[in-house]
Amino acid sequence: MPRKKTDAVLEAAIEPARRELLVATGGTGVGEHVGFTLEDDRLGTHWFEATFPGYRGWYWGVVVTRAPRSKNATVCESQLLPGDGALLSPEWVPWADRLAPGDVRPGDVTPKVEDDPNLEAGFEATGEEDVDAVALWELGLGRPRVLSAEGRERAAQRWYDGSHGPTAEVATKAPARCESCGYFLPMAGILRRTFGVCANEWSPSDGTVVSRDHGCGAHSEVDVKAPEPERVGDPILDDEAVEAL
Ligand code: SF4
Repeated sequence: MPRKKTDAVLEAAIEPARRELLVATGGTGVGEHVGFTLEDDRLGTHWFEATFPGYRGWYWGVVVTRAPRSKNATVCESQLLPGDGALLSPEWVPWADRLAPGDVRPGDVTPKVEDDPNLEAGFEATGEEDVDAVALWELGLGRPRVLSAEGRERAAQRWYDGSHGPTAEVATKAPARCESCGYFLPMAGILRRTFGVCANEWSPSDGTVVSRDHGCGAHSEVDVKAPEPERVGDPILDDEAVEAL
């Protein structure tokens, strides 16, 4: 049977819909009637503006229906729904996804990421727990996972692009590079080719990873003439000013 395009009985049931809505809301937050939608045969929704503060663009929907051949509409349910341009809360993001680098404070613990692409098994796993445990013990690693190639590459890129790489302002104004500085401690492993740690307490990079082409004004081999101490004349005492104090 083709669906009806209109339903005069339901469309006319504005006041019964409003009345039930006012009962449900305790008599507040219901504004002007703004329209009617026929959802299906003998099923439609009356729409009313929501007037609660903070609910701009929201509408009350009151669902009405009727029995076949009946001239009486019945209210089924009401609901508050956002319309176009309604004020909505931001989409919920799980806590673990909300954390960003730099958010972890003393006492915070981050969740373990089982398939973290930055890490890989610290030894070749055989699948036999006893054998793997022995292998781990013999290698002396003591760590079930170590940095993967991907994790190493990401860290290297981050450091290189960051405030201790060659493009940092302090490096672009530096008289010489870290690789020729006595305070530069090269890193172990493959990262040694690009990075080291600065061990100069006078440097803004002290205790951090620096790239070989980073640099700062505290470079060990750079020198500037230390200014000679200058003697200023004897102090002039203004007796009148002293007495006035
Ligand atoms: S003192 Fe400056 S130049 Fe030397 S290693 Fe540290 S950051 Fe590099």
